Amino acid sequence: MLPSLSGGAHAYRQLIAGEWVGAESGRTFEDIDPYTGHAFATVPASGAADAQRAIDAADHAFAAWAAMGARARQALFLNAATILERRADEVVRLMARETGTAAAFSRFQIQWATGLLRQAAGYPYLPGGEIVQSDTPGVFAMAVRKPLGVVCGISPWNGALALGFRTVVAPLACGNTVVLKPSEEAPVCAGLLIGEVLHEAGFPPGVVNVVTHAPDDIGPIADRLFDSAKVRAYNFTGSSSTGARLAARAGGKLKRIALELGGYNPMIVLADADLAYSVDTAIFAAFFHQGQICMNTRKILVHRSLYDEFLARFAQRARDLRAGDPSDPHTKLGPLINDQALAKVQRGIDEALACGASLVAGGTSRGRCFDATVLADVSADAPIHSEEVFGPVVLVEAFDDEREAVAEANGTAYGLSASIMTADVWNGIRLGGQVQAGMVNVNGPTMGGEPQIPFGGVKDSDWARFGRWAIDMFTDLNLVTVSQEKRHYPL
Ligand code: NAD
Repeated sequence: MLPSLSGGAHAYRQLIAGEWVGAESGRTFEDIDPYTGHAFATVPASGAADAQRAIDAADHAFAAWAAMGARARQALFLNAATILERRADEVVRLMARETGTAAAFSRFQIQWATGLLRQAAGYPYLPGGEIVQSDTPGVFAMAVRKPLGVVCGISPWNGALALGFRTVVAPLACGNTVVLKPSEEAPVCAGLLIGEVLHEAGFPPGVVNVVTHAPDDIGPIADRLFDSAKVRAYNFTGSSSTGARLAARAGGKLKRIALELGGYNPMIVLADADLAYSVDTAIFAAFFHQGQICMNTRKILVHRSLYDEFLARFAQRARDLRAGDPSDPHTKLGPLINDQALAKVQRGIDEALACGASLVAGGTSRGRCFDATVLADVSADAPIHSEEVFGPVVLVEAFDDEREAVAEANGTAYGLSASIMTADVWNGIRLGGQVQAGMVNVNGPTMGGEPQIPFGGVKDSDWARFGRWAIDMFTDLNLVTVSQEKRHYPL
């Protein structure tokens, strides 16, 4: 029987080899509701042995899963989408409690994840390769796509549901089996819930495994996941610092890793932009999910001719956004995920103010709820001028010419997403070509994303690409040749 998602501090189990089990040690940890500060669930606190069992189960299930026919595999992804849709209201409640996510972002994620599942349902029917011309007479050559084997997915807490699914769906649709290790901050929404939906949809035992762990216990689990020869690749979404460390680990074993990392996303408002629409776009892009999305706008660069008016209107709108209870359907901003996140946001603001910045709106908090905050005149010496603090704080700066705006937009280590607001779309496209970002949006927010787009960034933001481009990441391309006549050799 599956664990129920409703009610108080529910005791969850994890999914290994098609069974819902506790950690081998019997240990559990408390999963904390960031708004109330109380335990919302207890979750298995796994160790190396649990990770090994999950790897072995995925390895054992691989051959049969890779050989399963396209129609049977497609049906499972379609089932999963239907199940997730059926459970939508329950998932919204769960996301509010475990991750402080307000309803609008949870509903967006449910829609996104069901779209992803339905699109992935078509992958098994995509061409499995192509015919390659050979210069050798009588040789017929094929480049054939083959699954890799066991893929380990490591998911973050912030877009828990969507990114938990993104961590496993493309690898599975390519014929791999998976071990999903969700963030310790969202073991249910970024992990166990995904396992539940896929398990109920009928994915065979061992094809999907989910292993949860307590905050300080990642070491031995990571050792198993990264040292095991059975795990062929990793699909990681999280911070750039963790991604860099894990890339080095995977590289040390000559294994593949897909990375989706942090961002510091600029919005450039040109002199000919629609001011009211630019303010609307900036409010959404900067503060949706209280600034805890990799694509949130972190810096707004406004042409000096619009700057004062933009800042006044933007700050007024920001002052109306007060953070509160994410379970209340009227709440727009929920709490930050934990006390460390709150401290990081506060530190970023304090450092900026110490360097001479002006606090134009916000800067106030209650518990873990931090109000929408606008800073102006932030010195380049303040870390927040170029580093992601991952909270509801945005910088507004004036510029005089476009070259200056582009240089400022490119002045960070990141390169995920950018937006350019202008009445001259072709100029927006031209300028967008100069911005170092994997995704450029003319007259749209830095934030967005649909399952089929080539989601991804440049520089320290990542090197993965999702949508159908993920197939390249999670398959090998094998050459198969057939000699149709006897060949003549020099020896
Ligand atoms: P994080 O790097 O702290 O954790 C991400 C995952 O890595 C978690 O599952 C965590 O348990 C795991 N992890 C941490 N140390 C590990 C280790 N030594 N071995 C194995 N796994 C380890 O990131 P987070 O706080 O969960 O997420 C927020 C960050 O993710 C932000 O920087 C945000 O911009 C980024 N992010 C990027 C995208 C994207 O698509 N580019 C999407 C969402 C979030």
